[in-house]
Amino acid sequence: MSLKNNYLIKNYQKDRTLKIKHNYLTEQFFDYKKILKNFEKVIKTNEFTLGKEVDEFENKISNLLKTKYIVSVGSGTDAIMLSLKAIGIQEGDEVITTPFTFYATIGAIVTAGAKPIFVDVREDYNINPDLIEEKITKKTKAILPVHWAGRVCEMDKINKIAKKYKLKIIEDSCHAILAKYKNKFAGKFSSFGCFSLHPLKNLNVWGDGGFVVCSNKYYYKKLRLMRNHGLVGRNKNLIFGYNSRLDTLQAVVALNALKKIKYITQKRIANSNFLDKKLTSIQNVKCVKRDKNIKEVFHLYKLNLKNKKIRDKTIKFLIKKGVDAKIHYPTSMHLQPAAKKFGYKKGDFPIAERLSQTSISIPVHEYVTRKNLKYIVNLISKCV
Ligand SMILES: *Cc1c(COP(=O)(O)O)cnc(C)c1O
Repeated sequence: MSLKNNYLIKNYQKDRTLKIKHNYLTEQFFDYKKILKNFEKVIKTNEFTLGKEVDEFENKISNLLKTKYIVSVGSGTDAIMLSLKAIGIQEGDEVITTPFTFYATIGAIVTAGAKPIFVDVREDYNINPDLIEEKITKKTKAILPVHWAGRVCEMDKINKIAKKYKLKIIEDSCHAILAKYKNKFAGKFSSFGCFSLHPLKNLNVWGDGGFVVCSNKYYYKKLRLMRNHGLVGRNKNLIFGYNSRLDTLQAVVALNALKKIKYITQKRIANSNFLDKKLTSIQNVKCVKRDKNIKEVFHLYKLNLKNKKIRDKTIKFLIKKGVDAKIHYPTSMHLQPAAKKFGYKKGDFPIAERLSQTSISIPVHEYVTRKNLKYIVNLISKCV
């Protein structure tokens, strides 16, 4: 690896040559000049940190999710890490979570000082609540469910366990903006709903950003302090904190994206409904069994094939035919080199391991057409 190469140019250039892309950022930000105009306002006021646009973003999210307290921060990872720090996580504490997630979930737990205690998932990729209780020890401080692909975990059961053992819940809702479980928004089942504004998320900006949906005034105040050095005003340092604010310029981008999030969500749902219908009729293709209690927002559309060999062959074929199919992700977190020190081994979480070998994500965003979807389904049917 070159020391000064921060850009994975070869990977991204290859993806961009495909006909049906996974990400349509160029199309999505076709109206970028409007955003640049609003940048000008920020530049003229010199308010590059916090300020009016950040307030406005927090207020808009608060209206959207019908919740009182929003703390915007520097990234989704920071949203999780700061939440863990806010509940007082220390070296030696344990946090129960899923091995089927993005690296950041576990990275946040480890950088906060805790040990990730994995619990296997179910066929819907989400943590299996029935396996949580047996993992609770004296050191357990929190449960950190991930609403994978935009499908909310079974929060009734998870909340019940948390209550019984007096554990905190922190929701990794980075995939799940506007998703619901029993008519309640993801991120509102705990004091800490953690969201990301990364370019590849459903609600996205031109860099990094995130926020915490916080239902508790005490933690709200604490997070607001923590994200900005623990400062009150300019000269009083109440606690030692971090520098993790949502950039004002990113808040401008986010305000623009917020206008489209309902449309984006609705399109993803419509595309997924169509895919569900077509794909379930193909033998040897398995989709997640939908649950009427859950409103999924399909950050990813995932399907499972019979085994790794067929999965790999299908991915290769799709890419050859111009479809940017992806694997999220090929290795379960407990088997990553970074997790070695925790002593997990192959076979510990059989369902997560199997799903990482058999699943595929296919493009499902608002710029994928019906024709594109039919084309993808047809290609898949030829492989399985
Ligand atoms: C993207 C993501 C994060 C991290 O968000 P960043 O804004 O990139 O820091 C955390 N968890 C999950 C499940 C994610 O997909």
